[in-house]
Amino acid sequence: EVRVRFAPSPTGALHIGGVRTALYNYLFARKMGGKFLLRIEDTDQNRFVPGAEEYIKESLNWLGIAPDESPWNPGDCGPYRQSERKPMYMQYAMDLIEKGHAYYAFDTPDELDAMRERLTAARVVSPQYNSITRTQMKNSLTLPEDEVKERLASGEPYVIRVKIPRKEEVRLNDMIRGWVLVHSNSLDDKVLMKSDGMPTYHLANIVDDHLMKITHVIRGEEWLPSAPLHVLLYKYFGWEDTMPQFAHLPLLLKPDGNGKLSKRDAEKHGFPIFPLDWSDPNTGDIVAGFREAGYLPDAFLNFLSFLGWNPGDHRELFTLEELVEAFSVERIGKSGTKFDINKAKWFNEQYLRAKTDEELAAYLIADVEKEGLTVEASKAAQIAHVVKERATFPADLWKEGRFMLIAPSQFDQDIASKKWNTDTETVLGTYREKLLQFSGEFTPENAKSLLEAASEENGIKLGKIMQAIRLAVTGVGAGPELMPVFNIIGKEELIKRISFALE
Ligand code: GLU
Repeated sequence: EVRVRFAPSPTGALHIGGVRTALYNYLFARKMGGKFLLRIEDTDQNRFVPGAEEYIKESLNWLGIAPDESPWNPGDCGPYRQSERKPMYMQYAMDLIEKGHAYYAFDTPDELDAMRERLTAARVVSPQYNSITRTQMKNSLTLPEDEVKERLASGEPYVIRVKIPRKEEVRLNDMIRGWVLVHSNSLDDKVLMKSDGMPTYHLANIVDDHLMKITHVIRGEEWLPSAPLHVLLYKYFGWEDTMPQFAHLPLLLKPDGNGKLSKRDAEKHGFPIFPLDWSDPNTGDIVAGFREAGYLPDAFLNFLSFLGWNPGDHRELFTLEELVEAFSVERIGKSGTKFDINKAKWFNEQYLRAKTDEELAAYLIADVEKEGLTVEASKAAQIAHVVKERATFPADLWKEGRFMLIAPSQFDQDIASKKWNTDTETVLGTYREKLLQFSGEFTPENAKSLLEAASEENGIKLGKIMQAIRLAVTGVGAGPELMPVFNIIGKEELIKRISFALE
């Protein structure tokens, strides 16, 4: 059975790259008829941020991609928080020590600094604790066995490090990148167990993926450099046969393609980068989320799905079910994907416009009521119908349509100075007369023929004064098609507005 996991660290709000990882894991699990797990990787207690786990949960629920197994919905591979699995890890570190693939290290922070300084002075480019330097350091490979025992017995702090072999080629076959070869002399002896008895990411991640029977690791490209170490650990534990397959997802790039997308880019350009609003528990600052900005979950999901994947044809609009059907890891690209917020808006427009007028009316009514006003459902639906082509977000419906419920009290002076003239006044005067006399049903067609008649009688071309007429009735120079608007505001109101404008 296929089992994949999303393994976020609760160090802050989940950003868009994280949600994309979650989505691709979800799609893969569904496609293969497998399970999608969520594991909280909270071994780094210093970086723990309150509320972050809740945020992850709410984000995935909003998108409709809730995991099959998680801390809040456990399966039989629990616990699903690494902090609650703490007692399990030490035995695995000990196993590696016994097999000669790991060792105790007693170096103090000062000694480690001194080592790095020495290497830097000797012009070593990236000073690290590795197969060469460890021979000069204080660890169970260099100290006499008795001394090691004594130090351990006396409670002296230590870490456990992996012993990276000196000359070995590590290879892995990434599902997206193909064969990746790394020479072990570029790897360092990473810490597996910290002095506080907590495992590091590397140890906990491998042990848990194994115990949770993970078959495929789908994660961001930033973890590719760790993958060779992970492959070595699987080998040292003797778990090669069940080692998961790796798929490292391409980076999300800045809008201009120059470098990795960051929170700063989002702030600079004023677009969201988090699925939901995030209020920083330290500063109280709120960073905008896609949900609160008015993105619809299915539109956002569709946008996300294309950040690194494509179906190989020209289709762009996919429901979640259709994505499951179309998704394949083979169609995930290797190179980074530019983040284009306009594409996100485009998706939102498509999903918004696909809704019925009644569904759109519900958004509009809620916004109207927030202002302490009321509107009939049928009228709200009519308004939504005429403004929906101009809306990107649900809130735009009321922004674009409010003039239909609230008469303008002032007029765009710039348009007025250019477009308002005696011809406009003449035609509007005649139009008002005709409206007053008209007793039939007031439809957009009738509104139009009366206006045409008014312009013909005065020998004034409508085309020249149309914008001024719009200004008179709406207060601004641009908006949706006018005749349906006249119909919605109704004859009486139209007459009132024309009179006000002519004053
Ligand atoms: N805890 C890691 C993260 O925050 C998980 C990386 C992985 O999926 O292996 O992204």
